[in-house]
Amino acid sequence: MSMLPFMTRRLFVAGALAVTAGAAPLGAQSADTTQIVVRAGTVIDGAGVARRNMDVVVRGGRIAAVRPSRGRADVDLGNRVLAPGLIDTHVHLGWYINTEGKLHQRDDGDDEGTAIINATGNAQRMLQAGFTTVQSVGGAEDAPVRDAVARGVIAGPRILTSLGSLNENAGPPDSIRAVVRRFKQRGADLIKIFASKSIRDGGVQTMTQDQLDAACGEAKAQGLRSVVHAHAASAAKAAVRAGCSQVDHGVLVDDEALQMMAKAGTWFEPQCELVNRNYLDHKEWFRGIGNYNDEGFAAMERAVVLRRELVKKYHAVPGLKVIYGTDAVAGAHGQNARDLVCRVRENGETAMDALTSATSLSAESLGLGKEIGRIAPGYQADLVSFDGDPRVDANAFMRVSFVMKGGVVHRQPPSFAGPRRRYP
Ligand SMILES: [Zn+2]
Repeated sequence: MSMLPFMTRRLFVAGALAVTAGAAPLGAQSADTTQIVVRAGTVIDGAGVARRNMDVVVRGGRIAAVRPSRGRADVDLGNRVLAPGLIDTHVHLGWYINTEGKLHQRDDGDDEGTAIINATGNAQRMLQAGFTTVQSVGGAEDAPVRDAVARGVIAGPRILTSLGSLNENAGPPDSIRAVVRRFKQRGADLIKIFASKSIRDGGVQTMTQDQLDAACGEAKAQGLRSVVHAHAASAAKAAVRAGCSQVDHGVLVDDEALQMMAKAGTWFEPQCELVNRNYLDHKEWFRGIGNYNDEGFAAMERAVVLRRELVKKYHAVPGLKVIYGTDAVAGAHGQNARDLVCRVRENGETAMDALTSATSLSAESLGLGKEIGRIAPGYQADLVSFDGDPRVDANAFMRVSFVMKGGVVHRQPPSFAGPRRRYP
């Protein structure tokens, strides 16, 4: 259960390219020698290098070679830009809007099956948007979706999930360690920890140093990464001192906290705009639930400004490892590339740097730096193409035309239908 999705099954699948999800399992089919040549006008490798007119040779679900175009191609993407499958290190797979038009809550009458079907829909939307791997800091409903995707039963990105989270109410250090071990036993891929309040509640630190030491220390002892929600600078610093793997949000962090993260090698995952815009553009989906009220929405409006200031601060810290995470909640799944556009347009990053963050760097943060996040021999054949060049027009990140995961095509340009189809 806790093994990585693409390591869980090694099925042999004869035959050629499968275009739909359920038809084939994920990559790593060592016996599968099916070869697919994918051709593109530009190939960006996920580590900052772009090459013109290249072929990516896919065999057995993995990349066998990257070479200048020659001979026959099975998939000719023309002038499109090909990149590694995108990675979102912060989504909430199970959040959805129910038939009443409100954020799903445990007591809204929806049964477990409805919740899992909605989570499945979210997974499919993200895959169609080019996200071939997501980390869900979610709930128990993630497990059946993760496992069904890994078995090839349904289409979806590779899913890593915390299956739940812990906060200051988990009690003294010994109780916290027990909670972490229970998550491990239930098959969690990581531990999600809330060390501060939400920004709607001021973002102040909630967990003590002792509690964080126990949570991240036990996670490490169990071989799991620890991902910490922290807005207040003090909460982020406590997380770094506790040896936690990743700090999320950080809307209120100071220079010292950012420098501590850089020095310790703590992954930093700030958001750009998707999560805030999703809440502020669709207040009615959320209003009246918990702290989604006028005061909460006003705090989010202020956070938009704070996030802009945060960007200046973290760009000034050399060596800080900034990964890609959108905090995609209900209604936002499938728009995960919006923060790539935002990083270029609003934060002044180059499209290349934003792409590296959302591919090879994020892969490394998940402990998968040798498996995914690059177009290079030996890597999983996770490929996405954009209509247009994001280096010229950042909006191209939202125009995904081709998606391959582990050698299986999940999306193809509309022009490929009918007589012009170029599959074997
Ligand atoms: Zn979140």
